[in-house]
Amino acid sequence: MAMTDMNYKNFQYPLETEYLSLAEQLKNEMLINHLNNNTTAVNNTDLNDLIVMAKSSFIPNLFDMAIRLEKVDAAVCSFKLGMYGLCADCEEEIEYSDLEQDPAQPRCKACREHSRYHHD
Ligand SMILES: [Zn+2]
Repeated sequence: MAMTDMNYKNFQYPLETEYLSLAEQLKNEMLINHLNNNTTAVNNTDLNDLIVMAKSSFIPNLFDMAIRLEKVDAAVCSFKLGMYGLCADCEEEIEYSDLEQDPAQPRCKACREHSRYHHD
């Protein structure tokens, strides 16, 4: 089945919304966990730096949030590049049903199974 840009457009808004809300949550969590001193400092820090800090904090909740934010950010960026829906590894189209399940899915089924096989 051929995919059109129209199909993918359905995922753009939910992804952007998730991105913004995750970024807010991450900043709040960092303040709660005192990884950063105050709201101004957090808001003045580059989001990528916050993600790095969150990932190195070893606070599970914060770590998961940072990982998800990275994934969602990559998907939002791929829209801007016109690469959305293409596998990050093999550049084939990602199965539409997989994107419906998780619009931030970066890999096609074959590549996911391949990496599972190699990493587990
Ligand atoms: Zn692939």
